[in-house]
Amino acid sequence: MKVYLDNAATTALDSEVLEKMMPYLTEIYGNPSNQHHSFGREAVKGVDTARKQVADALNASPDEIIFTAGGTEADNLAIKGILQKYKSKGNHIITTAVEHHAIMHTCEQLEKDGYDVTFLPVDEFGAVSAEAVENAIKDSTVLVSVMFANNEVGTIMPIAEIGEICRRRKVYFHTDAVQAIGHIAIDVKAMNIDMLSLSAHKFHGPKGVGALYVRRGIGLMPQMTGGAQERKRRAGTENVPGIVGLGAAIEKAAERIAVDMPKVAALRDKLIEGIESTIPEVKLNGHRQNRLPNNVNISIKYIEGESVLMMLDMLGIAASSGSACASASIDPSHVLLAMGIPHETAHGSIRLTLSDKTTEEEIDYVIKTLPTVVERLRKMSPLYNK
Ligand SMILES: *Cc1c(COP(=O)(O)O)cnc(C)c1O
Repeated sequence: MKVYLDNAATTALDSEVLEKMMPYLTEIYGNPSNQHHSFGREAVKGVDTARKQVADALNASPDEIIFTAGGTEADNLAIKGILQKYKSKGNHIITTAVEHHAIMHTCEQLEKDGYDVTFLPVDEFGAVSAEAVENAIKDSTVLVSVMFANNEVGTIMPIAEIGEICRRRKVYFHTDAVQAIGHIAIDVKAMNIDMLSLSAHKFHGPKGVGALYVRRGIGLMPQMTGGAQERKRRAGTENVPGIVGLGAAIEKAAERIAVDMPKVAALRDKLIEGIESTIPEVKLNGHRQNRLPNNVNISIKYIEGESVLMMLDMLGIAASSGSACASASIDPSHVLLAMGIPHETAHGSIRLTLSDKTTEEEIDYVIKTLPTVVERLRKMSPLYNK
């Protein structure tokens, strides 16, 4: 049996989404910048439809959507673009200690360039408090950037509360919602969100395409200069098939949140219960209720997460330790450390992330397999003496 439980890293391309993309990979190959012929106009139609689909999913307007080459680029454009544009307002950014590297490393770079960055601490579940955000705001604050939901432990941040504070205190509010889209219904107006990043490949769309929502009236310094595409905010010929795929994927995901996500959450809870009832000395990381419907993150005492992943892989189960980027290095996850989890425990952590395509049979197989893997590894562990 093959079980894919690494959906926070990337998801399978939906077959209906691929079908919608296919014409734009074949006969509709015009450049949307040239509207003097039907080839270009056909391509524009595809991009326009997708822009409306993305806007509708967020309760935004199409002119507020900028297509990018993914979540990382959307994050960079939001943060650098706004700070450069509003330099005269100040140089202070507030973010958290548990952001994705696309935000974290961007902010660290800005700090080296002379910007003033506050990395707010989180609680034991990985959540930042809205009160801490408010207390950190000062006269020089331009931007608050807090992720919607954490990619490692699934914790959902108090986004609407933070949005209300930022609007009242007149600072811009960006959220990296890459993990939340398709899992949680988002209304940028109701939540007072000024900018939001998303990425198609996290909700069954194609890789290498994403978008940044920017509330009308907010300026951004382009990070990619060249042609006049995307209302002069992001130069370069549009990734037309990718954008069409993003539109189709977000429309489908938004329609299915109410139906599919409760089912995914039920499977998540079955997996958590199955693990906790069969493996002694495991700890669930993140909040038990306030978490993404598809995220399970556990620390298994006395063993290395990496060894668990290797053995699971041999048995057909794909999981991850921390984030995909973190697993290439030996440093434990910055998210788990920020939550106050000791180094040894953080090293023994694995992440299992489901999708609406995950079946109950697959979860049953994992519940049956994981305890045997843990038992074998613990018997080899010098730290384990039972
Ligand atoms: C995956 C991810 C990103 C990066 O998106 P890409 O499209 O892969 O560049 C950014 N933030 C979060 C929270 C993510 O999970």
